[in-house]
Amino acid sequence: MVPYSVTLLAGTENLVVSAEDWEMSAYTCIGCRVAFADADLQRAHYKTDWHRYNLKRKVADMPPVTAENFQKRVLAQRAQVYNLLNN
Ligand SMILES: [Zn+2]
Repeated sequence: MVPYSVTLLAGTENLVVSAEDWEMSAYTCIGCRVAFADADLQRAHYKTDWHRYNLKRKVADMPPVTAENFQKRVLAQRAQVYNLLNN
């Protein structure tokens, strides 16, 4: 089982994002449409489940989800698994 809590929001708390100027940053993730303060944060982001999830969406021709949206999805999925295991 993937330890979501570890990687879920790694790299998201230091985002410099705003919808208008993320493209101006030197360190961005095009797939997730976010910007980072430095290369380390960018690299950390590439390892997150959030990023991988958006990559899959891109392949399916779907728009990326925000970190917040992704977190909600993970929590919802977790609750589902929990219910399955406990019912
Ligand atoms: Zn990304």
